[in-house]
Amino acid sequence: MAASCCQNPSPAIPQDKEIESNVRELLNEMTLEEKIGQMTQVTATILVDGDNNITPEAESLLRKYKVGSVLNPPVRVGTPPAEVAAFVKKINDIIMDETGIPCLYGLDHIHGTSFILGGVLFPQEINLAASFNRELGEEMGKVTAYESRAANVPWSFSPTMDISRNPLWPRFWESCGEDVYLNAEMAKAITRGLQGDDPNHLGPHNIAACAKHYMGYGVAVTGCDRTPSSIAASELREKHFDPFKEVLQEGILTLMVNSSSNNGVPFHCNELLLTQWLKEDLNWDGMIVTDWADINNLYTRERVASTKKEAVKMAINAGIDMSMVPLNFEFCDELKELVEEGQVPMSRIDDAVARILRLKFRLGLFDTPNTSTEDYPEFASKEHIAAAYRTAVESEVLLKNEGVLPLKKSARILVTGPNANSMRTLNGGWSYTWQGDEAEKPEFTQKYNTIYEALSQKFDHVKYVPGINYDLYTRNWQHEDVDIAPVVRAAKDADVIVVCVGENSYCETPGNITDLALSVNQQNLVKACAATGKPVVMVLNEGRPRVVREVEPLAEAIVDIMLPGNFGADALAALLCGEENFSAKLPFTYPKYVNKFAVYDYKPAENQKTMAGDYNYNAVMDVQWPFGHGLSYTTFAYSNLAVDKAEFKPTDVLTVTVDVTNTGKVKGKESVLLFSTDMYATCTPDVRRLREFAKVELEPGQTKTVTFALPATELAFVNYFGQWTIEEGDFALSVGSESVMTRCTETVLYDEPNID
Ligand code: BGC
Repeated sequence: MAASCCQNPSPAIPQDKEIESNVRELLNEMTLEEKIGQMTQVTATILVDGDNNITPEAESLLRKYKVGSVLNPPVRVGTPPAEVAAFVKKINDIIMDETGIPCLYGLDHIHGTSFILGGVLFPQEINLAASFNRELGEEMGKVTAYESRAANVPWSFSPTMDISRNPLWPRFWESCGEDVYLNAEMAKAITRGLQGDDPNHLGPHNIAACAKHYMGYGVAVTGCDRTPSSIAASELREKHFDPFKEVLQEGILTLMVNSSSNNGVPFHCNELLLTQWLKEDLNWDGMIVTDWADINNLYTRERVASTKKEAVKMAINAGIDMSMVPLNFEFCDELKELVEEGQVPMSRIDDAVARILRLKFRLGLFDTPNTSTEDYPEFASKEHIAAAYRTAVESEVLLKNEGVLPLKKSARILVTGPNANSMRTLNGGWSYTWQGDEAEKPEFTQKYNTIYEALSQKFDHVKYVPGINYDLYTRNWQHEDVDIAPVVRAAKDADVIVVCVGENSYCETPGNITDLALSVNQQNLVKACAATGKPVVMVLNEGRPRVVREVEPLAEAIVDIMLPGNFGADALAALLCGEENFSAKLPFTYPKYVNKFAVYDYKPAENQKTMAGDYNYNAVMDVQWPFGHGLSYTTFAYSNLAVDKAEFKPTDVLTVTVDVTNTGKVKGKESVLLFSTDMYATCTPDVRRLREFAKVELEPGQTKTVTFALPATELAFVNYFGQWTIEEGDFALSVGSESVMTRCTETVLYDEPNID
């Protein structure tokens, strides 16, 4: 049995002596009010008038409460970088004048510089996941960091790493889909890009990342935002904690907490999960911030506190370091009283403030509290745009192609559907505004192409008849105006119909739905298009997999572009004409029925095809498209899958090799996914788990050998009692349709979770 590694765990981030001594020195000089101020974050919207000027009242409150952090863009949305930079500097000047400590400014730049006018917007993370390309994640992080600093912003609430396993959930698209490993790998890649290599000394082109939302947010039982989950202890540790552990050990500097509760305990007051698992077991010295108003929500929404003040006590004592209050300053008064009454120990305040100061030192804010736009000439450069475009190309999934694609440039194309001529739908939420509902405004997106515009540039004959229109300027995102007859008339002159359906933009709670099916109007549009007899290419532009079972057979080709951002339509046009090749794969299971959701790592009993007669419980996995599905204009064959050890010990590293050949006629990229299956275990095992992936590019006829180094501990699972274990017995390793067996010769029950 492995010795416990958590008696004296080595620090997740090695500390810097000079920073630590600076932190101690400063802490010793600070008053209680100053310390509580550091723990307070307010939103910019309460500080400004309509012209983005900081009001005199706001200035005196910032001074009185000695505020340490501000979030959100100022009132006007999509502000140019220099204006945002000047605004952040004004706040910083006030706060530094009062406290001598720089302000920590944070924005939700979750898919590029999404709140800054002219900044480069990447595809959303669900697209990034479909690329199965870590380099693109790192690139997105780098560009986002650089362009955020151009706007004087040193912190982003990214990466989002919720394991999205309920497709109804309105934040499905904000993270990397349903798989644990893929989420962890992409979050690490984004974090490397945002923070750079040295978490103690971030450079002027780096910003602090924030792992969110800790944890289990994507498995709400109802599928509605901010509603409870019911995750078993073993699954919580194995599937939800593990990706956070990975990214914390990689050096991420901050973490945001899930707004909801699990098995009755809100995460914001769960001392075990906040203090013990993160700060003690992992010895992580980063900073924990709440989500929006979530201390207060312990009282108003979760009802585990009987007063606001009690909520503050519960959250801070559980391990929260910074409160995203964010609309008033009551938190400061209440926390001060609690400390004076001895209900919150001073040691807890000092721990929280040390973490916040350490972060500010690590970011270099004491030396350089502000950055200037003119020092960032690469803002929105061609290279940044090329990275966003490349990510879009590698993220759009070809789900079906009965031969209609690629389209000839001379083809007469009818483009229709509510998503055909909209920039808002390409971007989704967190784009210029929270809901993405102003993205259509010319100042934000006129220079980018909608699908109709991009196709018009690429093909000779393109006609657009909407058939259905969303309301593009309001938060009423589900509204649809329907007029299908003109589409049918226009189809007469077309060789092919590209019907663009899906969803309008939304974010968080306003995006809740009660029916996962694609809207009836949109299904009718697809049916009407198909009834014309012309071939139909269905483009799905949506944040979650809306059920299309009835219309799927009517389309000759289907592409799920999800939320590909400002360059997503250009990418689509290049893919549809064959200038680019598809290489994306689904990072989630696309459901076929609204009452039957599934994930790829289900339990064996959920798919009992072999049972017959009275004992056929009809427990069958019948999905529209499985996790990992994605076609290309070429084909790939796998051969010679091998593992170097027929038997292994839990301390071994397995070397797995496989040959991949491009068996088609055009160049293509293939994501090679390595899965494992634990054949028998004391807890019913998952049918398979993704353990590694790599993306390779192959010329026609070319073969490459892909090699994976797989530590045997990756094959461990968490048992009923919450302990990591690896058990003696057979494992299958598989890539594509190839499979190879290997055997673990020893059972190990680890004392504790922190195995690597
Ligand atoms: C969201 C977070 C976000 C925060 C700050 C909350 O409503 O849940 O993901 O980072 O707002 O904007």
